[in-house]
Amino acid sequence: MIMESPLPKTQSNNDLQEFLSGFNSDSEVVKILNKIGVRPSKGLGQNFLIDTSVSESIVDALNIDDNDTIVEIGPGLGALTRYLIGKVKKLVLVEYDRRIYEYLRDVLSGVDGVEVFHQDAVNFDVRPFYAEDAVKVIGNLPYSCGTEIIRNFLTFPSPVDSAVFMLQKEVVNRFCAVPRTKSYGLLTVITCAYWNVERLQDLTFQPFTPKPAVDSAVLRFSPCDSDKYPPFNQRVLKRIVKCGFHERRKQLKKRLPLGDTDWSELCKAMDLQETARAEELSINEWINMARFIDDNPLKDNPQMGNELFDVVDEDDRVVEQMERSHVHSEGLLHRAVHVFVFNKVGDLYLQKRSVLKDSSPGLWDSSASGHLDVSEEYHCAAIRELSEELGISLEVNLICSIKPSENTGWEFVRLYRCEHNGPFNLPYSEIAGGGFFPIAMIGEWVRERPEDFASGFIKCLNSYVD
Ligand code: SAM
Repeated sequence: MIMESPLPKTQSNNDLQEFLSGFNSDSEVVKILNKIGVRPSKGLGQNFLIDTSVSESIVDALNIDDNDTIVEIGPGLGALTRYLIGKVKKLVLVEYDRRIYEYLRDVLSGVDGVEVFHQDAVNFDVRPFYAEDAVKVIGNLPYSCGTEIIRNFLTFPSPVDSAVFMLQKEVVNRFCAVPRTKSYGLLTVITCAYWNVERLQDLTFQPFTPKPAVDSAVLRFSPCDSDKYPPFNQRVLKRIVKCGFHERRKQLKKRLPLGDTDWSELCKAMDLQETARAEELSINEWINMARFIDDNPLKDNPQMGNELFDVVDEDDRVVEQMERSHVHSEGLLHRAVHVFVFNKVGDLYLQKRSVLKDSSPGLWDSSASGHLDVSEEYHCAAIRELSEELGISLEVNLICSIKPSENTGWEFVRLYRCEHNGPFNLPYSEIAGGGFFPIAMIGEWVRERPEDFASGFIKCLNSYVD
């Protein structure tokens, strides 16, 4: 297939033209490998795709748009890359082999919107992608570390909107498995709790040079709708699923870290057999079990419109008490705290609010925040919110006070700080997840996509940075 060049016509670049016109035979691949001094490595999964129709169908499956940022993992000699160049806003290539990286860097230097990284995709920092509008990931993945790469890019909360990967069939079977089969396990449950996984294509022949020892198939990942499963704590789910599948044939009651949970009571509530084994539970049942076993006292804390707040005057003096819903709907002045939790390298923890919250559902927010209870001091409220939202008991220091405005929701806000490296015990009815981010990265994200954040957080960030 002849590709239209993304370069201005005046610029001659033979290597680029050769790269874009591609290859479809073993000998052409070998010629390029010899030219750049690469002997295909089994450890790096260097089996290069030589069938252009397979390449095209994989790229088609990603449904690219000219406003997309595409990350290609392990671009190799460009079997997929050449169908992406010039078609998207930004193309990020992550290649671990130094010689192949240098080849791509040289051939693609000067091509608008293409960035080439010499890095291990297992540890590639995905956080800067939050600042992008739509992020899609693609790759004919190295089979040695394909699942680790997927974990790095798709673990919730992830900046990725969709992904298409080619993997070895045995791993594809695990992602797509159903209960009561050998392939069903930790990988299936942990992934499918967040992602819909579609098996698009099984390759019935081996269109690679050199030919791999195993068969391959193509998968597409798209995020589950937020109401597909009830909210749950990711850490609890992972812990019980891991323990459950550690010895998959053993009865769960002998394997699970139940804490104070009574197994018979759990089985009764979930309509489960007391002799249930890990491989018999559906993803929905695993999630419900995680919700049941979760010992966070606030895991099911409902939002209450009739909670009482102190209403204050313009000098922050208490004038009366009113119900939360009334205070908010009338825009009355009241009080709140935000806490910024930094880790030891100075990154700030952001929480992603639950989609069940009545204000700013699903948005990113301060590490912890909340209203003051009636007659409560700001400082005490900050310590209480840290304990309720993150499960930690710590002293806090005042950073600044912020005057009420539309952006703070007419709240007098006091912003505090403290240091903790996590992990945190999050109440799933309030917080879906979170992560540590460098302040500069958050600044860029807020500039590019302010709609991702609760407005009170943006006000706090600006006050902190000023
Ligand atoms: N995309 C090319 C294709 O379809 O022909 C190459 C695919 S080949 C199966 C895997 C590619 O991933 C190779 O280029 C290899 O060097 C690269 N690779 C291996 N391990 C990697 C890692 N940890 N991070 C990034 N790239 C990696």
